Amino acid sequence: MLYKRSSQLFAEAEKVIPGGVNSPVRAFKAVGGTPIFVKSAKGAYMYDEDGNRLIDYINSWGPMILGHAFEPVVQAVIEKAKLGTSFGMPTELETQIAALAVSMVPNIDKIRFVNSGTEACMSAVRLARGFTKRDKIIKFAGCYHGHSDSFLIQAGSGAVTFGSPNSPGVTAGTAKDTLLAKFNDLENVKTLIEANKNEIAAIIVEPVAGNMGCIPPNKGFLEGLRQFCTDNGILLIFDEVMTGFRLARGGVQELFNVDADIVCFGKVIGGGLPVGAFAAREEIMNYLAPLGPVYQAGTLSGNPLAMAAGLAMLQTLNNDAAIFDRLAEKTAYLHAGIEKVLKANNVVFTINRIGSMISVHFDATPVVDFKTAANGDNETFKKFFHGLLQEGIYIAPSAYETWFITDALTYEDLDFTIQAIDKVSKTF
Ligand SMILES: *Cc1c(COP(=O)(O)O)cnc(C)c1O
Repeated sequence: MLYKRSSQLFAEAEKVIPGGVNSPVRAFKAVGGTPIFVKSAKGAYMYDEDGNRLIDYINSWGPMILGHAFEPVVQAVIEKAKLGTSFGMPTELETQIAALAVSMVPNIDKIRFVNSGTEACMSAVRLARGFTKRDKIIKFAGCYHGHSDSFLIQAGSGAVTFGSPNSPGVTAGTAKDTLLAKFNDLENVKTLIEANKNEIAAIIVEPVAGNMGCIPPNKGFLEGLRQFCTDNGILLIFDEVMTGFRLARGGVQELFNVDADIVCFGKVIGGGLPVGAFAAREEIMNYLAPLGPVYQAGTLSGNPLAMAAGLAMLQTLNNDAAIFDRLAEKTAYLHAGIEKVLKANNVVFTINRIGSMISVHFDATPVVDFKTAANGDNETFKKFFHGLLQEGIYIAPSAYETWFITDALTYEDLDFTIQAIDKVSKTF
C-alpha cells in the first residue's frame, strides 16, 4: 500500500501544527514513518487520502463502539444541526441523556456534561477536594486521566509513548499533591495512605487500565481500594472514560460490583463528538456550582449536537441486551486466533483482554502494571505495526495502547486480521 498523499499532507500540516497533529498519540514517533490522513470511515473501515481501506482497531481511541458513521448517530446530529448548533441555554436533550446515563450506571444520582475526558477527570478531582476539604490525590503509574496538570505524573498513553510521563510546565506545587502508586499493588496504596493521614481527597484509578495496554485489575484490587477509601474518608474516583458504556452497560462498577464515589466518562458517551461527563451520588454532586461552592463551567458543555450523538449512542447500547456479550465474543475469537499464529511462529508475547479491549505485548512476563507493560520489545512492535499497516490493518502506533473491538467488525474481518498477523509475524 502507498501512503504518498498522506505524507504530503503531513508535510503541509507540520508547517502550521506542532508535530503536524492536534494530539500527540496520532504521530508515528514511536513506530517511525508519517501519520495516515483519513478521508472518511464507515463501519469497521477507514478510507485514507491515498484511497487505501484500513480495518480499524483504534476507533477514534474508543468512541466508535458501534463502528464509524453509525446511522442513528449521524441522523441525530444532522437533524439537530438544522435547529441551531449552540445556545448557551438549557435544552430538553440534556435532561434526556442525563436521565438515561443515570439509569444505566449503578450508584450515581446526577451527572454533569463537559467537553472531554480531560475536563471530566479534572473537574472530578476538584469536586473531591472541595467535598473532602483535602488537597492530595493518589494516582497510579501508567494510568492516564487526560492532560490536566495534576495527572501528568507518570502518565500513560501518549505521555509515556513520547517519553514525557512527567511534563515540563507542571509546577512543583501541583506535582507535590499527586501521590504515585503502583497499579494492582494494594500494599503500596496502604503505605501512601498511612504516610498522608487525613490529607488524601481522592484515589483516582482506571478500574480496568487501558493506557498502558489493557490491564485488568487483580482479584480484590478494586475491592481493596474501596475499603481503604471508606475507612479513611477518601473518595474513590473511577475514571471510566475508556471503559464506561464499553465493558458493560453500567461500566466497571457493574462488571466487578464495586461502587465508586465519582465516575468519569468520555469517549463512547459522546458517540464520536467531543463529550465528557462526571457523575456521583446526590450529596457529592450538589457540591457543584450553582448549588454548591465548587466551581465548574463550560460555554459549549451540553452542546446539542454532542448530546444528540451521545443520546443516540446510549439508546442503542441500552436497547441491545446482547451487545456487550457479542463484543466480548468477537474479542475472545481474535485473541484465540492471534495466540495460535504467534505461537506457531515462535513469537514471545502476552495478550491481555477483557470485554472488547485487548492488547498484545511482546514479552513473556504477565503484564500487570506499568513496569511490566514497559518491558515489551518495541522493535518487534514496530515491525508488527508497519507489517499490519501494509496489510490494510490499523492498530494504534504505540505499544502502550489498547485495541478497541467494534460491533461493525465481522468474523471475516477478524479472520483476515489473524491471517495478516500470521504473515507479518513470520518476518520478525
Ligand atoms: C482518553 C482518556 C482520558 C482523556 O479523555 P480526552 O477526551 O482525551 O480528554 C481520560 N481518562 C482515560 C481513562 C482515557 O482513556
